[in-house]
Amino acid sequence: MKFNALTMRERRMERSKSIEEEINTVQRAGRILEVLKNSFSIPDLSDIVKDPFKVLVRTIISQSTSEKNTQKAFENLSAKIPVTPKSLAEADVRFIEESLRCAGLYRNKSIVIKEMSKIIVEVFGGSLNFIYSLPLSEAREKLMSLPGVGPKTADIVLLFCAGKPVLPVDTHVQRVSKRLGLVPKNERKYDSIRARIEELYPPEYYFHVHMLFIALGRRFCKSRRPRCPQCVVNDLCPSANLQESIFY
Ligand code: SF4
Repeated sequence: MKFNALTMRERRMERSKSIEEEINTVQRAGRILEVLKNSFSIPDLSDIVKDPFKVLVRTIISQSTSEKNTQKAFENLSAKIPVTPKSLAEADVRFIEESLRCAGLYRNKSIVIKEMSKIIVEVFGGSLNFIYSLPLSEAREKLMSLPGVGPKTADIVLLFCAGKPVLPVDTHVQRVSKRLGLVPKNERKYDSIRARIEELYPPEYYFHVHMLFIALGRRFCKSRRPRCPQCVVNDLCPSANLQESIFY
């Protein structure tokens, strides 16, 4: 009996400890966002987000490619041909390749963009307007049925263009959220990481969190050599004082 009573007490203590830890994490997550909002500006994407197809094409170009080269490749393509499903479905793939040459894996991306455009024309009636009307999970599934479109790309289109309550996790968001102790370090599954970060912030901040975590990852929390001493959130980060070797 004594053993059971002790165990129950211990369980209660464990529970209240984990509730307290969760409250601390939620408060810390909120403070991190505040600091980031005051430290970085968010680029104005209002022009491009009006057109989900352009966002989709740009996101495919951006895979394993720097922001600078993504922008250059997208501008090259836009200057040569209207970025619409119909024109890209009809374009010679070598013509698309020419425009995307400055982006990584440009041959593969050109084939994917052409194939995807053909499917949008033939199966979706030439438009991605379903993202506005379908519920989140259905719209996500439909986007992910397209070649080259994984969960991150689908979530970017859904959040940026349709304002759906989903938080895209790219490589920066994943790295930064783990180092900040917001997501368990050993979590590998895309949907679990996304769901955990979504839990910590209200949906109206998902766009800000996505953009600002990317900015933090690019400026300070770099993959190989994070600049912890200069980092704007180092007083809120449990990884700030760890040995540099843990980041490799
Ligand atoms: S303190 Fe270091 S590990 Fe933490 S977010 Fe900043 S750069 Fe990344």
